[in-house]
Amino acid sequence: MDLKPAASTASNKAWKKFLARSSTGMNAFLRLGAQLIVYGLTGRVPLTMGGSLKGQLLYPCLKKGVEVWLESPLRQLVTEKGRVVRAVVLSQGTPVRVLAREGVLLASGGFEYSLEMCEKHLPNSSSKEWTVGAPSNAGDAIRATVKIGAKVALMDKAWRGAVAITPDGKTSFLLADRSTSFGIIVDAHDERFTNESASYVDC
Ligand SMILES: Cc1cc2nc3c(=O)[nH]c(=O)nc-3n(C[C@H](O)[C@H](O)[C@H](O)COP(=O)(O)OP(=O)(O)OC[C@H]3O[C@@H](n4cnc5c(N)ncnc54)[C@H](O)[C@@H]3O)c2cc1C
Repeated sequence: MDLKPAASTASNKAWKKFLARSSTGMNAFLRLGAQLIVYGLTGRVPLTMGGSLKGQLLYPCLKKGVEVWLESPLRQLVTEKGRVVRAVVLSQGTPVRVLAREGVLLASGGFEYSLEMCEKHLPNSSSKEWTVGAPSNAGDAIRATVKIGAKVALMDKAWRGAVAITPDGKTSFLLADRSTSFGIIVDAHDERFTNESASYVDC
């Protein structure tokens, strides 16, 4: 697919405008700047939003001695008498069969990085180069569950929005850009390619 890098938009300018709009925004910005300087000087790594949530869930697990395997993708589910009894995961490149005494809980996101699944399930053309989701979300677990007879739903539904691919190849979700009054978003050929007024959830 011929990917034309969209023109880099005025994202930074838009954020600056938002900050300057009220003293509250500016105060928050200055407070954050001061905090970041302190973190930089003391070597602390601040976690916010999703990272903070994950950290808060991980910390008690590690304290309780729960073994956490990173870089160990699920590849297959093994059933016996109609229930999942094992999960096969790739641990450091080697398939390992993990006993599932009580069952398996899957929380492995969507399939935004599987071009094959995007083309099969989602309306309109798609490309994994345009997604800003987690690169590891290639639908492995969905495929594994379908293979053992699970039913899936809402496969043709996705939250999608306009993105820009900057000249350095990075993908950026256009959010601040869409919130700018009277702003329009154009591609490298000066053509509009999205509805800038569409709501956060519909676009
Ligand atoms: C740019 C962007 C901005 C967003 N902003 C907001 C926001 O402001 N507020 C909000 O509420 N939501 C927001 N969302 C949506 C939110 O991030 C998602 O709805 C949420 O992360 C979905 O959680 P999840 O656990 O289902 O999947 P994910 O967070 O995608 O997590 C899935 C995990 O499974 C792992 N995985 C994948 N395959 C395997 C495998 N085979 N084996 C093991 N692990 C696997 C992946 O590595 C990943 O860590 C945003 C999403 C995007 C992309």
